[in-house]
Amino acid sequence: MARAALLCRCPRCGEGRVFAGLLSVRAACPTCGLDLSAEDAGDGPAVFLIFILGALAVGIAAWLEIEFESPVWVHLVILTPLIVGGAIGLLRPMKAGMIALQYWNNLLQPPQN
Ligand SMILES: [Zn+2]
Repeated sequence: MARAALLCRCPRCGEGRVFAGLLSVRAACPTCGLDLSAEDAGDGPAVFLIFILGALAVGIAAWLEIEFESPVWVHLVILTPLIVGGAIGLLRPMKAGMIALQYWNNLLQPPQN
């Protein structure tokens, strides 16, 4: 799963790209044809990122404050790129990971009638 998530590749073949744009998921894997239209990552990737980056930012802010009594501009210079860059850079792999989890838990099949 980690490889498919980090490289944003298809969870079945590991070759086809999952995304057509920044965050838009392809209808199917271009290599193996895995139907990705039923994926529903929803807000999951964003929520996990909020928890991870929020905890990291608060930890670093507390450490800067306790250890160095840093002025506010130091917090802004260090934490703003971390939060913005982390959110933009990690959202795709996080969403690809959620899609891979759905595949491995058999949630990508269309509903049976
Ligand atoms: Zn594939």
